[in-house]
Amino acid sequence: MFESLSERLSGVFDKLRGRGALNELEVRAAMREVRVALLEADVALPVVKDFVDRATERAVGADVLKSVTPGQQVVKIVNDCLVDTLGGENADIELNVAPPAVVMMVGLQGSGKTTTTAKLAKLLKDKRAKKVMMASLDVNRPAAQEQLKVLGEQVGVATLPIIAGQQPVDIAKRALQAAKLQGFDVLMLDTAGRLHVDQALMAEMKAVSEASQPAETLLVVDALTGQDAVNVAENFGREVPLTGVVLTRMDGDARGGAALSMRFITGKPIKFVGTGEKIDALEPFHPERAAGRILGMGDVVSLVERAAETLDVAEAEAMAAKLAKGKFDMTDMLAQFRQMKKMGGLGALAKMLPGMAKAQEAMASGKVNDKSIARLEAIILSMTPKERAKPDLLNARRKIRIANGSGVTVQEVNRLLKMHADMETAMKRLKKMGGLGALAGMFG
Ligand code: GDP
Repeated sequence: MFESLSERLSGVFDKLRGRGALNELEVRAAMREVRVALLEADVALPVVKDFVDRATERAVGADVLKSVTPGQQVVKIVNDCLVDTLGGENADIELNVAPPAVVMMVGLQGSGKTTTTAKLAKLLKDKRAKKVMMASLDVNRPAAQEQLKVLGEQVGVATLPIIAGQQPVDIAKRALQAAKLQGFDVLMLDTAGRLHVDQALMAEMKAVSEASQPAETLLVVDALTGQDAVNVAENFGREVPLTGVVLTRMDGDARGGAALSMRFITGKPIKFVGTGEKIDALEPFHPERAAGRILGMGDVVSLVERAAETLDVAEAEAMAAKLAKGKFDMTDMLAQFRQMKKMGGLGALAKMLPGMAKAQEAMASGKVNDKSIARLEAIILSMTPKERAKPDLLNARRKIRIANGSGVTVQEVNRLLKMHADMETAMKRLKKMGGLGALAGMFG
């Protein structure tokens, strides 16, 4: 998610970081590079223009130019502009109507609509304690209704019994009736997809919408299609009253053009993002966390949330408290390696951790993988408690002792220290920007 954009922007900011002072020309030059980065990420032109205008106006303000840490100020401004562009606050799904609240899912064929319907049903059932029923209105694709039924069985969500030959509006009415009678909180309608936006499809959407009066009409679009996703959203939005967007395949989208353009161009918030093929790979979309990922500060909040789901609460609380203090020594790093293993492998989590972008390169090049995590653990375990608390103590002699003790080379010890330093720097930067404030309260 956002990897290439993230890399491009960190290149811009690396040049500013650590500078004592910046003049206006330098700030403007940096903003031109931000502009190129956004264009390369396939962000829509009007969005790029608005973004760069806003960021430049603030960045050439007296505050930045006089600041002792101008680089950091610029990063903060870009962060704030990213959050705004991505939609500000998290837009949650609204189900506050007399039950059953109808959630109508619309989108083109292949966008991931049926999968997302089942993912969202599971999320509402597991995390919001809703009693959910799903019904497929797709009478064009022969196996569509069956597909939803199978997914429903997989996630433990009821589906409306299939009656062959029934038309979409009639299925919607029957589903509504059944959901009402059987006391369901939420009814999810998976509508038919098409290859392109066409009139017949739009007429059908409108008729279903009128018959079922949805509380939410969510458009499912494929993030990998970039600006096409935004065009599709504009077209659908003109015909049916969309309440939000679900961007699928964010796991494969390194650029982020669709995510960054969606709100500005369509006016519709991204409510959820699909992050994989697995049935639980659907997350509420949080603009401020996404901005954190883009700026390479890691999505610490999501990481801690994930930790809270997987680990026991005491462990997660301890981790949050430490991170919130910006404290991060070798013992914390060891704990993180162990938690990472528990939480489902290094690959998935590396992206959420601050400063792990560089570690990821090492992983991609095969130098670090889940197996070699055991070696990293061994290195830390060969350190004395004092060394773990204060890695600065590690001079050449100590490094040789640790390398011998853990059966690795001194280079490997150095690599681990570098990784730790990167993570620590990122934590500190994040703390300065106030990104960790929310963490402390999360378990309070
Ligand atoms: P539909 O035609 O729009 O109903 O599309 P489907 O729900 O059948 O999905 C098409 C394919 O996309 C399936 O193989 C899904 O597993 C896959 N898919 C859906 N969402 C995601 C996602 O967020 N990430 C990834 N990697 N694949 C997804």
